[in-house]
Amino acid sequence: MTLLLVACGGDAAAEQADGRLNVVTTTAHIGDAVRNVGGDYVRVDSLMGPGADPHLYLASIGDVDQLRRADVVFYNGLFLEAQLEDVLEQLAEHKTVVPVSAGIDPATLLPSANYADEFDPHIWFDVTLWMQAVEQVRDTLMAADPANAAAYEANAAAYLAELAELHAYVAEQAARVPPAQRVLVTAHDAFSYFGRAYGFEVRGLQGISTASEAGTADVQQLANFIAERQIPAIFIESSVPVRNVEAVQAAVRARGFDVVIGGQLFSDALGDTGTPEGTYIGVVRYNIDTIVGALSN
Ligand SMILES: [Zn+2]
Repeated sequence: MTLLLVACGGDAAAEQADGRLNVVTTTAHIGDAVRNVGGDYVRVDSLMGPGADPHLYLASIGDVDQLRRADVVFYNGLFLEAQLEDVLEQLAEHKTVVPVSAGIDPATLLPSANYADEFDPHIWFDVTLWMQAVEQVRDTLMAADPANAAAYEANAAAYLAELAELHAYVAEQAARVPPAQRVLVTAHDAFSYFGRAYGFEVRGLQGISTASEAGTADVQQLANFIAERQIPAIFIESSVPVRNVEAVQAAVRARGFDVVIGGQLFSDALGDTGTPEGTYIGVVRYNIDTIVGALSN
């Protein structure tokens, strides 16, 4: 990897004939933030498409090529992109490489369930934390491209206002679920920030990373919990195989309680570009509407 980066470096200027800042992001969530803040002054590519699992994602040769041509690279950080850490660290020696989580006060972060001394990386599930990621994007773009700083600042202000409205919407919808039913069971522990911000107890089958297969004991334990609490619905996720949640559903049924699959939530990836769920605001709305619909019954 070192050889590749060094051998290919140095022709970034030739790539931006249109004058736009060439930005590459790991997740599509971050790409969407950059698009909203950067507007017409940036060209944005995200490495991870719909359904991609950032915990397991490996950089292809094409990805490395794209990263080395970027003017600015944004990633989530907090060990979300566990397999890309080395590549990102090497890139940081040559160009602006920024974790969007950098500006968040660690006191407001939750601990990782899987990695000692790491934080839970799923910050986009609390809209107020994600707003701080957007501010990091804004500040980085303003520093990287001072000529267009005023535009970045204005775009960010408008987008942050939309996100503040989004946060209020999620809180309002969450409050419609009866308190005893505010339990969210999903395929992996992505939703802890969501739970804290919007008042849900959260259970994931797989721990915080998808790197470990859920064991049989975990399935049985979760099935007991669901049957005892009579939780009406559990959820599958766009970036985690469905079989894990189906195993839980079957184990709950074996205990004489019928839990339905309440729908598919977008956890660590966005949906298809050009659909409402291809944007951050779209997936947040989709998720809360799906959760409220299934748990309010
Ligand atoms: Zn995750």
